[in-house]
Amino acid sequence: MKKLFIDIGGTKLRSELHDGVTIREDEQSSRTTDLIVYIESLLKMHPEVGFIGISYAGQVNKGVILSAPNITVTTKNIKEYFESRYKLRLEIDNDLNCAVRAEAAFFNSLNLAALYIGTGTGSAVIEKGELFRGAENQAFELGHIPYKPAPFPCGCGKNNCLELYASGSALERWMQHHRIEGELSFPLLEQSKAGREIKEQFEEALAFAAATLVTLVNPEILVLGGGVIGHNGYLVDLIQQRLPGLGFAPSLGNLKVMQSTRQQPGIDGAKLLEQDQ
Ligand SMILES: [Zn+2]
Repeated sequence: MKKLFIDIGGTKLRSELHDGVTIREDEQSSRTTDLIVYIESLLKMHPEVGFIGISYAGQVNKGVILSAPNITVTTKNIKEYFESRYKLRLEIDNDLNCAVRAEAAFFNSLNLAALYIGTGTGSAVIEKGELFRGAENQAFELGHIPYKPAPFPCGCGKNNCLELYASGSALERWMQHHRIEGELSFPLLEQSKAGREIKEQFEEALAFAAATLVTLVNPEILVLGGGVIGHNGYLVDLIQQRLPGLGFAPSLGNLKVMQSTRQQPGIDGAKLLEQDQ
Protein backbone atom coordinates (compact mmCIF):
# COMPACT_ATOMS: atom_id res chain seq x y z
CA MET A 1 0.00 0.00 0.00
CA LYS A 2 1.30 3.43 -0.88
CA LYS A 3 1.01 6.19 1.71
CA LEU A 4 0.84 9.90 1.15
CA PHE A 5 1.89 12.38 3.83
CA ILE A 6 1.18 16.08 3.39
CA ASP A 7 2.34 19.07 5.43
CA ILE A 8 0.12 22.07 4.73
CA GLY A 9 1.77 25.20 6.04
CA GLY A 10 0.84 28.86 5.79
CA THR A 11 3.03 29.33 2.73
CA LYS A 12 4.22 25.90 1.59
CA LEU A 13 2.57 22.63 0.78
CA ARG A 14 4.91 19.65 1.08
CA SER A 15 4.14 16.05 0.38
CA GLU A 16 5.93 12.74 0.59
CA LEU A 17 4.77 9.61 -1.16
CA HIS A 18 5.94 6.32 0.31
CA ASP A 19 5.62 3.18 -1.75
CA GLY A 20 7.57 1.03 0.69
CA VAL A 21 10.87 1.54 -1.09
CA THR A 22 11.18 5.03 -2.47
CA ILE A 23 10.03 8.41 -1.28
CA ARG A 24 8.95 11.09 -3.69
CA GLU A 25 8.82 14.67 -2.47
CA ASP A 26 6.95 17.62 -3.83
CA GLU A 27 6.69 21.26 -2.76
CA GLN A 28 4.24 23.92 -3.87
CA SER A 29 2.75 27.17 -2.67
CA SER A 30 -0.24 26.59 -0.40
CA ARG A 31 -1.57 30.07 -1.21
CA THR A 32 -2.21 29.36 -4.87
CA THR A 33 -2.92 25.60 -4.83
CA ASP A 34 -6.41 24.28 -4.16
CA LEU A 35 -5.96 21.48 -1.66
CA ILE A 36 -8.57 19.12 -3.12
CA VAL A 37 -7.28 19.58 -6.69
CA TYR A 38 -3.72 19.00 -5.47
CA ILE A 39 -4.51 15.74 -3.63
CA GLU A 40 -6.66 14.45 -6.50
CA SER A 41 -3.85 15.08 -8.98
CA LEU A 42 -1.51 13.00 -6.79
CA LEU A 43 -4.11 10.21 -6.50
CA LYS A 44 -4.50 10.16 -10.28
CA MET A 45 -0.78 9.48 -10.59
CA HIS A 46 -0.74 7.03 -7.67
CA PRO A 47 -4.13 5.26 -7.44
CA GLU A 48 -2.70 2.64 -5.04
CA VAL A 49 -2.51 5.16 -2.17
CA GLY A 50 -4.36 3.61 0.78
CA PHE A 51 -3.57 6.12 3.51
CA ILE A 52 -3.25 9.91 3.55
CA GLY A 53 -1.93 11.68 6.65
CA ILE A 54 -2.15 15.48 6.73
CA SER A 55 -0.59 18.03 9.07
CA TYR A 56 -2.59 21.25 8.70
CA ALA A 57 -1.64 24.80 9.76
CA GLY A 58 -5.12 25.76 10.94
CA GLN A 59 -8.06 24.54 12.95
CA VAL A 60 -9.45 21.06 12.24
CA ASN A 61 -11.74 18.71 14.12
CA LYS A 62 -12.68 15.13 13.23
CA GLY A 63 -11.58 15.38 9.61
CA VAL A 64 -13.27 18.74 9.01
CA ILE A 65 -11.30 21.92 8.28
CA LEU A 66 -12.67 24.72 10.48
CA SER A 67 -10.41 27.58 9.40
CA ALA A 68 -8.04 28.05 6.52
CA PRO A 69 -5.66 30.98 6.94
CA ASN A 70 -3.69 31.49 3.69
CA ILE A 71 -4.83 28.16 2.29
CA THR A 72 -7.27 27.57 -0.56
CA VAL A 73 -9.80 25.01 0.61
CA THR A 74 -13.02 24.50 -1.34
CA THR A 75 -14.21 21.42 0.55
CA LYS A 76 -14.12 21.57 4.35
CA ASN A 77 -15.01 17.94 5.15
CA ILE A 78 -11.86 16.60 3.58
CA LYS A 79 -11.91 13.19 5.33
CA GLU A 80 -15.44 12.41 4.15
CA TYR A 81 -14.71 13.76 0.66
CA PHE A 82 -11.77 11.46 -0.03
CA GLU A 83 -12.89 8.39 1.94
CA SER A 84 -16.26 8.33 0.12
CA ARG A 85 -14.71 8.71 -3.35
CA TYR A 86 -11.53 6.64 -3.05
CA LYS A 87 -10.64 3.36 -1.36
CA LEU A 88 -8.43 4.93 1.27
CA ARG A 89 -8.26 6.26 4.80
CA LEU A 90 -7.48 9.93 5.50
CA GLU A 91 -6.48 11.47 8.82
CA ILE A 92 -5.87 15.20 9.27
CA ASP A 93 -4.81 17.09 12.38
CA ASN A 94 -3.55 20.52 13.37
CA ASP A 95 0.17 21.03 12.62
CA LEU A 96 1.13 21.48 16.27
CA ASN A 97 -0.82 18.38 17.27
CA CYS A 98 1.19 16.53 14.63
CA ALA A 99 4.51 18.10 15.64
CA VAL A 100 4.07 17.35 19.35
CA ARG A 101 3.52 13.66 18.58
CA ALA A 102 6.74 13.61 16.55
CA GLU A 103 8.59 15.36 19.41
CA ALA A 104 7.20 12.99 22.07
CA ALA A 105 8.21 9.98 19.94
CA PHE A 106 11.71 11.43 19.40
CA PHE A 107 12.27 12.30 23.06
CA ASN A 108 10.48 9.12 24.19
CA SER A 109 8.41 11.19 26.65
CA LEU A 110 4.87 10.69 27.96
CA ASN A 111 4.58 14.27 29.32
CA LEU A 112 5.79 16.84 26.85
CA ALA A 113 4.78 20.31 25.74
CA ALA A 114 5.84 21.86 22.43
CA LEU A 115 6.09 25.60 21.81
CA TYR A 116 6.73 26.48 18.17
CA ILE A 117 7.42 30.03 17.06
CA GLY A 118 7.15 30.39 13.30
CA THR A 119 4.63 32.50 11.43
CA GLY A 120 2.35 31.96 14.42
CA THR A 121 2.65 31.04 18.10
CA GLY A 122 1.78 27.34 18.37
CA SER A 123 1.66 24.94 21.27
CA ALA A 124 0.43 21.43 21.93
CA VAL A 125 0.64 18.96 24.80
CA ILE A 126 1.13 15.23 25.30
CA GLU A 127 -0.16 14.11 28.71
CA LYS A 128 0.43 10.51 29.81
CA GLY A 129 1.26 9.59 26.22
CA GLU A 130 -2.00 11.03 24.83
CA LEU A 131 -2.60 14.21 22.91
CA PHE A 132 -4.52 16.77 25.00
CA ARG A 133 -7.27 17.73 22.54
CA GLY A 134 -10.10 19.54 24.33
CA ALA A 135 -13.77 19.12 23.35
CA GLU A 136 -13.33 20.57 19.83
CA ASN A 137 -9.66 19.66 19.27
CA GLN A 138 -8.67 23.27 20.08
CA ALA A 139 -6.78 22.85 23.37
CA PHE A 140 -3.65 24.89 24.06
CA GLU A 141 -4.13 27.58 21.43
CA LEU A 142 -1.60 29.56 23.42
CA GLY A 143 -1.20 32.20 20.71
CA HIS A 144 -4.75 33.40 21.31
CA ILE A 145 -4.73 33.96 25.06
CA PRO A 146 -5.21 37.63 26.02
CA TYR A 147 -1.87 39.39 26.46
CA LYS A 148 -1.78 43.11 25.57
CA PRO A 149 -3.73 45.28 23.10
CA ALA A 150 -1.91 45.74 19.78
CA PRO A 151 -2.51 48.37 17.07
CA PHE A 152 -3.56 45.65 14.59
CA PRO A 153 -5.91 42.66 14.81
CA CYS A 154 -5.08 38.97 15.10
CA GLY A 155 -6.30 36.50 12.47
CA CYS A 156 -8.87 35.33 15.04
CA GLY A 157 -10.47 38.80 15.17
CA LYS A 158 -9.23 39.93 18.60
CA ASN A 159 -6.53 42.57 19.06
CA ASN A 160 -4.87 41.45 22.29
CA CYS A 161 -3.60 37.96 21.47
CA LEU A 162 -0.18 36.73 22.56
CA GLU A 163 0.48 35.84 18.90
CA LEU A 164 0.50 39.59 18.11
CA TYR A 165 3.76 39.76 20.12
CA ALA A 166 5.32 36.28 20.20
CA SER A 167 5.45 35.21 16.55
CA GLY A 168 7.31 35.76 13.30
CA SER A 169 4.29 37.47 11.74
CA ALA A 170 4.09 39.77 14.79
CA LEU A 171 7.73 40.81 14.32
CA GLU A 172 6.95 41.70 10.68
CA ARG A 173 3.79 43.59 11.57
CA TRP A 174 5.54 45.59 14.29
CA MET A 175 8.28 46.41 11.75
CA GLN A 176 5.63 47.70 9.32
CA HIS A 177 4.00 49.64 12.15
CA HIS A 178 7.32 51.40 12.89
CA ARG A 179 8.16 51.70 9.17
CA ILE A 180 11.30 49.59 9.41
CA GLU A 181 12.11 48.39 5.90
CA GLY A 182 13.89 45.21 4.90
CA GLU A 183 13.57 41.50 5.48
CA LEU A 184 12.97 40.42 9.06
CA SER A 185 16.15 39.53 10.92
CA PHE A 186 17.33 40.21 14.44
CA PRO A 187 20.57 41.91 13.24
CA LEU A 188 18.37 44.34 11.26
CA LEU A 189 16.23 45.03 14.34
CA GLU A 190 19.40 45.72 16.36
CA GLN A 191 20.20 48.67 14.07
CA SER A 192 17.50 51.04 15.34
CA LYS A 193 15.91 52.03 18.64
CA ALA A 194 12.44 51.02 17.43
CA GLY A 195 13.88 47.72 16.17
CA ARG A 196 15.53 46.95 19.49
CA GLU A 197 12.23 47.65 21.26
CA ILE A 198 10.42 45.26 18.89
CA LYS A 199 13.01 42.56 19.62
CA GLU A 200 12.77 43.09 23.39
CA GLN A 201 8.98 43.06 23.27
CA PHE A 202 9.12 39.79 21.31
CA GLU A 203 11.56 38.19 23.79
CA GLU A 204 9.36 39.24 26.71
CA ALA A 205 6.27 37.74 25.06
CA LEU A 206 8.14 34.55 24.14
CA ALA A 207 9.32 34.04 27.74
CA PHE A 208 5.76 34.72 28.93
CA ALA A 209 4.44 32.08 26.47
CA ALA A 210 6.96 29.48 27.66
CA ALA A 211 6.33 30.22 31.35
CA THR A 212 2.54 30.11 30.89
CA LEU A 213 2.71 26.77 29.07
CA VAL A 214 5.02 25.22 31.67
CA THR A 215 2.91 26.54 34.56
CA LEU A 216 -0.33 25.19 33.05
CA VAL A 217 1.01 21.84 31.86
CA ASN A 218 3.91 20.88 34.17
CA PRO A 219 5.62 18.88 31.41
CA GLU A 220 8.71 16.70 31.76
CA ILE A 221 10.12 18.32 28.60
CA LEU A 222 9.43 21.67 26.94
CA VAL A 223 10.47 21.48 23.26
CA LEU A 224 11.10 24.75 21.45
CA GLY A 225 10.80 24.70 17.67
CA GLY A 226 9.54 26.54 14.61
CA GLY A 227 11.42 28.74 12.14
CA VAL A 228 12.05 31.76 14.39
CA ILE A 229 13.54 29.59 17.17
CA GLY A 230 15.42 27.47 14.60
CA HIS A 231 17.11 30.54 13.10
CA ASN A 232 17.80 32.20 16.46
CA GLY A 233 19.11 29.52 18.81
CA TYR A 234 19.92 32.08 21.52
CA LEU A 235 16.18 32.23 22.26
CA VAL A 236 16.37 28.76 23.87
CA ASP A 237 18.96 30.05 26.37
CA LEU A 238 16.94 33.22 26.89
CA ILE A 239 13.84 31.21 27.79
CA GLN A 240 15.83 29.01 30.15
CA GLN A 241 17.23 32.09 31.89
CA ARG A 242 13.85 33.79 32.27
CA LEU A 243 11.68 30.80 33.24
CA PRO A 244 12.63 30.85 36.97
CA GLY A 245 11.37 34.43 37.29
CA LEU A 246 8.13 33.82 35.41
CA GLY A 247 7.06 30.19 35.80
CA PHE A 248 5.62 28.30 38.77
CA ALA A 249 8.61 27.02 40.75
CA PRO A 250 7.30 23.48 41.55
CA SER A 251 6.81 22.90 37.79
CA LEU A 252 10.36 23.96 36.97
CA GLY A 253 12.39 21.72 39.28
CA ASN A 254 13.03 18.83 36.88
CA LEU A 255 11.92 20.47 33.64
CA LYS A 256 14.13 19.90 30.61
CA VAL A 257 14.06 22.65 27.98
CA MET A 258 15.13 21.28 24.59
CA GLN A 259 15.45 22.73 21.10
CA SER A 260 13.65 20.76 18.41
CA THR A 261 15.84 18.88 15.96
CA ARG A 262 12.95 17.93 13.65
CA GLN A 263 13.53 19.07 10.07
CA GLN A 264 9.98 18.19 8.98
CA PRO A 265 7.84 18.05 12.15
CA GLY A 266 4.59 18.19 10.13
CA ILE A 267 5.50 15.25 7.90
CA ASP A 268 6.93 13.30 10.87
CA GLY A 269 3.67 13.86 12.79
CA ALA A 270 1.48 13.08 9.76
CA LYS A 271 3.13 9.66 9.62
CA LEU A 272 2.01 9.01 13.21
CA LEU A 273 -1.64 9.80 12.40
CA GLU A 274 -2.04 6.29 11.02
CA GLN A 275 -1.94 5.04 14.63
CA ASP A 276 -5.17 6.98 15.42
CA GLN A 277 -8.24 4.88 16.07
ZN1 LIG B 1 -5.91 35.57 18.14
